[in-house]
Amino acid sequence: MSRRELFRMIGATAGGAAMFQAMSSLGFNAESPYNGPIELQGTPKGASVLILGAGIAGMTAAYELRNAGYKVQVLEYNNRAGGRNWSLRGGDSYTELGGFTQKCEFDKDLYINPGPWRIPYHHRGLLSYCKRLGVPLEAFVQVNYNAYLHSSQAFGGKPQRYREIKADYQGHVAELLAKATRQNALDDSVSKEDREKLLESLRGWGALDRDFSYGPSEASSDRRGYEKEPGGGLSARPIPSKPIGLSDVLDSGLWQGIPNGDTFDMQTALFQPVGGMGRIGEAFGRELGPLIRYSAKVIDIHQDQHGVTATYEDRLAPGTTLKASADWCLCTIPLPVLAQIPMNVGPALSAAISSVPYASAIKVGLQFKRRFWEEDDHIYGGISYTDLPITNIGYPNTGYHSSGKGVLLGAYIWGLNAMEFTAMTPQQRVQKVLEYGSQIHPQYPKEFDNGVAVAWHRSPFTMGCYGMWSADARAKHYDDLCRIDGRIALAGEHASFLGGWQEGAVTSSLDAIGRLHQLALAQGGKA
Ligand SMILES: Cc1cc2nc3c(=O)[nH]c(=O)nc-3n(C[C@H](O)[C@H](O)[C@H](O)COP(=O)(O)OP(=O)(O)OC[C@H]3O[C@@H](n4cnc5c(N)ncnc54)[C@H](O)[C@@H]3O)c2cc1C
Repeated sequence: MSRRELFRMIGATAGGAAMFQAMSSLGFNAESPYNGPIELQGTPKGASVLILGAGIAGMTAAYELRNAGYKVQVLEYNNRAGGRNWSLRGGDSYTELGGFTQKCEFDKDLYINPGPWRIPYHHRGLLSYCKRLGVPLEAFVQVNYNAYLHSSQAFGGKPQRYREIKADYQGHVAELLAKATRQNALDDSVSKEDREKLLESLRGWGALDRDFSYGPSEASSDRRGYEKEPGGGLSARPIPSKPIGLSDVLDSGLWQGIPNGDTFDMQTALFQPVGGMGRIGEAFGRELGPLIRYSAKVIDIHQDQHGVTATYEDRLAPGTTLKASADWCLCTIPLPVLAQIPMNVGPALSAAISSVPYASAIKVGLQFKRRFWEEDDHIYGGISYTDLPITNIGYPNTGYHSSGKGVLLGAYIWGLNAMEFTAMTPQQRVQKVLEYGSQIHPQYPKEFDNGVAVAWHRSPFTMGCYGMWSADARAKHYDDLCRIDGRIALAGEHASFLGGWQEGAVTSSLDAIGRLHQLALAQGGKA
């Protein structure tokens, strides 16, 4: 079974979070190699680079090459900077492949990130650009102990609080392990000296009582919450809660959600830009100003021994084609789009471009008349997980307690379910997501205001979510994809081992321009 098939199956059966986890554990996501700002010295006078795509990869390159003294021009399909780095706000409109146009009707300052939404603390490259561009960050809440874990097949479909499932799973496992230790069943693995330390640690880890059993107590309630919470005055006395039995916890399958914040990419601290992920692309766009030509759809890329020429359509004047040329070209156009653009490169690069299928995903933003998840359910930020096709409900990690409307991520749909939703109209997607989400938050029907649904396989500028390299394809084609072909280099998340992350775009871009710079130095900038 290929990695891709494996991920698809995991995504279909256990949801997106589990798929991300599996990807991490199979080394699909790795640590960033970013080691500080790139140094490009001695740029040949007059040397020029044409950059295709103003996403994070393209703009990282444009920023650094401009600073190093290159003449830089960027061609970008959209009328905005950022590519997948994008926030949809009230008043924005978006037309997908197939022709459906959605007008976002969110209130002022409310937004949804259809693409990236979180930045791990170790994505040092992207974070350094946030700092240099003055993009303020705030905390992204990955794990909220009061959010829900939900299975349509367990507890009569009633969502459970994350802290209850975590505490009870941990408590029962600790009790079992303590029992085995005390019955000398682990003597082959645990030395006499370690036995007492293990028992003590299990008592702490699992909130066990003096007898190493897990049950209703101060200690367990301090983890899973109380039947009646401690208060003040005459009504102060807390009542401990009763844990869910081991068999019910195991049967529910909800334990699958417990490690959602444990993988390297999901560990605190995680960040989000204040005002939406799109603030990074916007800041880059402001910084680069007239270097970016917007609404420019590249339709042909041609190189010869002197330079590279891209032919592009001016989307504001349909039927008008223009040309842009430079000594070198850095192409960051996502592979499903690039595969359809004529480009005279060698067979190895051509084959690599066609070898990477893209993951399918859908995000749905829902605006509600009030922030009932805070007011009624006491959930402030973070994510609820479900076995329903919507997989996630992401609560806003900002604007807590604000009155008026609120927007949440109503769905982050993956794999086969995403394909099914992609075939629907945007309105049908929103409707279906409301139906599913009502099983977790019955307030949905009464409080719903409006919604938007972005299906990434219908995005005209990406045609997919991100590259899903199989182990075979990577072994065969990855180096060819990254190797410079004549005067053309490719960069983007697809040309990285940090696929599906903006850090992949940054690091692949820096790597590619470092190598382009060496070539330019060797050739004195011009042929
Ligand atoms: C649903 C989803 C969730 C994600 N979650 C996260 C997350 O939480 N954190 C994270 O860090 N990353 C996340 N990512 C991944 C992240 O968005 C990407 O890795 C990164 O933004 C890719 O940057 P890029 O520059 O390589 O590509 P892009 O951003 O796709 O840039 C390519 C550019 O090329 C342009 N282009 C396309 N065709 C043409 C053409 N014909 N002519 C001219 N220009 C063209 C596009 O408009 C675009 O601006 C997520 C992605 C998705 C889709």
